[in-house]
Amino acid sequence: MPIETDAILQYLEEKERKEGALPRPLEFYRNLLQVQSEVERKLVSRLEAGLSRDAINKRIENGTPLISFDELALDWPLLTAAFDEIKGIFANYAELFNSSKRRLAELGADVLLTRSALKRWFTKQKLPSTISIRGMDKKLVNSIIHAAIKPFLISHAKTLRDSIDQERWRRSYCPICGGSPDFAFLDAERGSRWLLCSRCDTEWIFQRLQCPYCNTQDQNDLCYFSDDAGLYRLYICERCKRYIKTVDQRQAENQVILPLERFLTLDMDRQAIEMGYKPHYRVT
Ligand SMILES: [Zn+2]
Ligand SMILES: [Zn+2]
Repeated sequence: MPIETDAILQYLEEKERKEGALPRPLEFYRNLLQVQSEVERKLVSRLEAGLSRDAINKRIENGTPLISFDELALDWPLLTAAFDEIKGIFANYAELFNSSKRRLAELGADVLLTRSALKRWFTKQKLPSTISIRGMDKKLVNSIIHAAIKPFLISHAKTLRDSIDQERWRRSYCPICGGSPDFAFLDAERGSRWLLCSRCDTEWIFQRLQCPYCNTQDQNDLCYFSDDAGLYRLYICERCKRYIKTVDQRQAENQVILPLERFLTLDMDRQAIEMGYKPHYRVT
């Protein structure tokens, strides 16, 4: 069951109390979560699952995610206000992204948050060229758009989460929003492998011995490294040269907070990239 945003915030506040201060990446993440949780709160009473059982079953059968861009209920004034706050947070932590505070603070919602730009982001297409005018790193632009739209995706996903028949999906993209996974876990019960959506934090079950990016099942191309405690695994694929970080919940002593794990394992990203592997996103 995905962890709620408020539970992650609580955990981070507790951690800060105990340790005095949070490392900069976690502090950044907490600030983002505060804005996102506020948006989620405003959306909570408005959204309801808009799909019939039949429609859901049909989509799952056909491999069509349950939310298309046009079905995503975006409240533009709320989205724009969230974007402005989020942009400010990215600007305050500009050094984490090798960017400049001024450049980030200058980003305008009127350029980034057009319907066509968001649709392109959602459908994983190249962003319009108007967005890259200031030589801004495209990955960073993608991250900012993502952070602003995330509470809408999460809120919408929550209304549909329970209707996923896990055994009938098992595809390499998110059953709810179509996003790629960026983290995985092996469950505590049977060691089954689950993927975590990079966009809406939905979890879905997937084959242990298959690459979630290029779908190869050739075992000569797939392997993993684990840390000394056996808690983390870095799965790599020689076919597409991508990696996915994985936590083995059978080895965990405490509760694992998956979205937070993305930030607790930044060293694994560094190592994987140094070894020549790429993360899930495609910068186009
Ligand atoms: Zn998703
Ligand atoms: Zn692959």
